[in-house]
Amino acid sequence: MAHPVTLIPGDGIGPELAEATRRVLEATGVLFEWEVVEAGEAVMGRYGTPLPDHVLDSIRRNRVAIKGPITTPVGEGFRSVNVTLRQVLGLYANLRPARSIKGLDNRYEDVDLVIVRENTEDLYAGIEHRVGRDAAESIKIITREASERIARYAFDYALANGRRKVTAVHKANIMKLSDGLFLESCRTVAADYDGRVEFEDRIVDNMCMQLVQKPELYDVLVLPNLYGDIVSDLAAGLVGGLGVAPGANIGTEAAVFEPVHGSAPKYAGQNRANPTALILSGALMLRHLGETEAAERVEAALREVIGEGRTVTYDLGGDTGTREFGDAVAERLAAAPAATPV
Ligand code: NAD
Repeated sequence: MAHPVTLIPGDGIGPELAEATRRVLEATGVLFEWEVVEAGEAVMGRYGTPLPDHVLDSIRRNRVAIKGPITTPVGEGFRSVNVTLRQVLGLYANLRPARSIKGLDNRYEDVDLVIVRENTEDLYAGIEHRVGRDAAESIKIITREASERIARYAFDYALANGRRKVTAVHKANIMKLSDGLFLESCRTVAADYDGRVEFEDRIVDNMCMQLVQKPELYDVLVLPNLYGDIVSDLAAGLVGGLGVAPGANIGTEAAVFEPVHGSAPKYAGQNRANPTALILSGALMLRHLGETEAAERVEAALREVIGEGRTVTYDLGGDTGTREFGDAVAERLAAAPAATPV
């Protein structure tokens, strides 16, 4: 049976990446019933909002979506569609794996981190106001419920995926109440996994320094929203950059798969951007849909094509186009079809 999936191409480089990703996912032989809906800058004029109701309805109906990046105006203009989607759909866990790909010229060859970012509160709650003309306040919301929920997600993920350790990342030395509550919640949850998954905590600034110097010491990291956003870009930088960093937003009602990177407007329409991050997000989606074997084949085909070094996009040192890279991965998948069940 075909999997119904909402496909949001997004802004900037999004549509090119979405097209390449769709070809790769279809080359696995898994059947999809794509419902393509537009959100972002392109639909503002038509609907008066970058996130029309029918987009949310489609995701709620299909329960699974894959999306390209969507531009957020800086300082003024509409609120982030990405943040709104996560909040409205209750997509509380943002999973961002960062794993080395052999053949890429990175400082480290064996990075294998999983960032678990709380996705609904913290400074991203969007509660801010001006105080007179010359000051502004943003309110940082941390609740025990959301903190324990994300910590439990991180420990369950560690157990289900054979990972050894969860590190909670915070700034509880300074933000004693908000980050203090996050850390306390992580410790409470960690006690339930005692003896099965190790637990430790790190202050976020020290964590950044340690990740740059010795990333092999770390495994699953759990962080409040803002630190999670920043540290996941740092982790992406350890394994080849934003072009190869996938992500998933998981909730109880729906899941939305999207890369860590944004819409990179300066590369839009040039057939240059790397679709790897969106394709790997597609592999996370396949796992979510129970298509584990197809997900493994996509990851293996990507690793082979990138590892050979001949057919890679500009960010990985080559000059292959978005479309041509996607085709190379799709052809590799077609050459290694799924094992036939006996
Ligand atoms: P960005 O991630 O779009 O791009 C930064 C740089 O990273 C690019 O200039 C490019 O050099 C590189 N890059 C990113 N993706 C790449 C890819 N697939 N292949 C090759 N190189 C790639 O970050 P930005 O410029 O800060 O943000 C642009 C817009 O995207 C903003 O409006 C921002 O709000 C939005 N954004 C959206 C999302 C999302 O949709 N989830 C996430 C982050 C940023």
